[in-house]
Amino acid sequence: MALESVDCVVVGAGVVGLAVARALALAGREVIVLEAAEGIGTETSSRNSEVIHAGIYYSAGSLMARFCVAGRKALYGYLTEKGVPHSNCGKLIVATNAVEDGKLEDIRRRAAMNGVDDMRILTAAEAVALEPNLRCTSALLSPSTGIIDSHGYMVALQGDAENAGAVAVFHSPVLGGRAVAGGVEIDVGGADPMSLRCNLLVNSAGLHAPKLADGIAGMPKERVPTSYYAKGNYFTLTGRSPFTRLIYPVPVPGGLGVHLTIDLGGQARFGPDVEWIEAIDYRVDPRRSDSFYEAVRTYWPDLKDGALQPGYSGIRPKIVPKGAPGQDFVVQGPQTHGVPGLINLFGIESPGLTASLAIAAHVLEVAATG
Ligand SMILES: Cc1cc2nc3c(=O)[nH]c(=O)nc-3n(C[C@H](O)[C@H](O)[C@H](O)COP(=O)(O)OP(=O)(O)OC[C@H]3O[C@@H](n4cnc5c(N)ncnc54)[C@H](O)[C@@H]3O)c2cc1C
Repeated sequence: MALESVDCVVVGAGVVGLAVARALALAGREVIVLEAAEGIGTETSSRNSEVIHAGIYYSAGSLMARFCVAGRKALYGYLTEKGVPHSNCGKLIVATNAVEDGKLEDIRRRAAMNGVDDMRILTAAEAVALEPNLRCTSALLSPSTGIIDSHGYMVALQGDAENAGAVAVFHSPVLGGRAVAGGVEIDVGGADPMSLRCNLLVNSAGLHAPKLADGIAGMPKERVPTSYYAKGNYFTLTGRSPFTRLIYPVPVPGGLGVHLTIDLGGQARFGPDVEWIEAIDYRVDPRRSDSFYEAVRTYWPDLKDGALQPGYSGIRPKIVPKGAPGQDFVVQGPQTHGVPGLINLFGIESPGLTASLAIAAHVLEVAATG
């Protein structure tokens, strides 16, 4: 088995791995991206809502709040510069009773603490003037929420990274590795197995990041979180979307509620719900649509029986179990785990797509100080 060496290895060509590879390459570092699958973004990065989140609900000061707001601002600029399809369509959080009416101001205030200061409470009449098919008692408008062609975005990131000298290699699962003097040595499988030594290893393996970290000898086990999977199922709507903005109910404890998102082709989908699972399985059980009909009709009574079709699903890379308080992103560098040259990204669930450019900038800072 040959032993090669490179400055930086990024494991995973999802949206976050690609953003990190781009940032490292633009900073002048030599970068190889190793991806187990046949192409970019085949896991969570292509199984999400494709929403550019404003940064409304996250705890003030959390990495999610900071990276979502900073990432969103950077993302709109980047997408415009690169000509990647996106739309700043806005979003309505809709109240359908007096109790929910009272919650909108709390949501607006929390968003403002995160730097999202453009949200506005609308009367029912104002909301219905924007979205005639809506039924609500009041609503909160988020003008900075949008939608994105996530694959187009990843292609742009890959292009930038490669133009700056990075190389992406597919069918190349990283099997494990070990801490060595001044860096990490990894074992790469695939058709031509090899070992590779690097000064910096960024573990951006999404759902598999804890397993990969666990497989690196020298990485303290107590710093590796347990993986939990919270699947989100989507149901698509036959016909054109009845709304032009994203429509979200007032959040319930533990989730954002069954909301409507639209893709750039004008197709509407509802979801994601929350289904805790033991093993990765992307099949959507059609029976789950029952709860969708009920939830959606609270704000869109005209939803017809039979209009929802099973769509697709994505799996949230959780590092806390069901019922635990919410998790934050974890960007774990040598100062935390003690292995020089290793940065682990754990729990990069929503808003990871929106936050990707900010996460990448942060990884560069950790790499510089670690
Ligand atoms: C249901 C759902 C809805 C979401 N909606 C939104 C949204 O609307 N807006 C938003 O901002 N965010 C959203 N997110 C979050 C967002 O999709 C993720 O944060 C983001 O895609 C994570 O990207 P990633 O690169 O970390 O992971 P991934 O896209 O999963 O990429 C990880 C990559 O690593 C590869 N890999 C794994 N192990 C290895 C190995 N050992 N060797 C080599 N390669 C390996 C995998 O093949 C994969 O390609 C949502 C997430 C879910 C689950």
